[in-house]
Amino acid sequence: MTELNYAGFLACSTVNGPGRRAVIWVQGCPLRCSGCFNQDLWPFAPRNRIRTGDLADRITALPDIEGVTFSGGEPFCQAAALAEVGELVREKGLTVVTFTGFPYRELRLRQRASWNALLHATDLLITGPYRPDLPCSHPLRASANQEIVHLSDLLKGREDESGQAAGTVEYTISPEGVITATGFPDHHDFLCFMNTGGC
Ligand code: SF4
Repeated sequence: MTELNYAGFLACSTVNGPGRRAVIWVQGCPLRCSGCFNQDLWPFAPRNRIRTGDLADRITALPDIEGVTFSGGEPFCQAAALAEVGELVREKGLTVVTFTGFPYRELRLRQRASWNALLHATDLLITGPYRPDLPCSHPLRASANQEIVHLSDLLKGREDESGQAAGTVEYTISPEGVITATGFPDHHDFLCFMNTGGC
C-alpha cells in the first residue's frame, strides 16, 4: 500500500459532486492557475500522511455517503495512491469524482501508468485549469474551459446535482470545532478549502 500526503478530509459534503460525498484534498499542485483559491495547497510539503488502505477503510466506514471526491492540490500528482483508494472504495459500491487542473487531452496523451490507473478508478472527471477570464455558472465547473467527462455510466445525468447552484458554499463544523468551508464562493472561483483550526 502507498501513502498519500493530504491537506484535508471531510466526511460528508453536498457541493463536491453528486449526492453526499466524502472529500479528500491532496497537498501539492504544480499548475499555479491565476486566481486559484487553494494556493496554500500548492507546495509539495508534508502535511497529513495516511496509507491508502487506511483511507479507503475510513471512507467506506462512513454512513450515508455514495462516494468520494478527490480534489486539491492536484490529484494527478498523487495518482497512484488515489487510484488505489478509488479502486478499493468502488469495490464497496461507492463512486469516485476527481477534479484536476490538467486538460483531459493531456491526461490521455501522456499515457502515464499512474494517470491511467486514476482515470480507470474515476467515474466522473472535472478537468482543465482554472481560468478566471472564463467564468461559468455550472455547479462543478469553475471556468467555462473545464470539461466534465464521464468515465463510467454510474454518474451520468447527475453532474448538475452538486449543491443547489453555482455560488453555494458549505460550512462544516467537526466535533473538534474545526470549521471547513468548501464550494464555489462566487461564480469565478475554484473549489475552496479553508480550515481554521488545522487539518
Ligand atoms: S486551481 Fe487547482 S489546478 Fe489550478 S493551481 Fe489551484 S489547485 Fe492547482
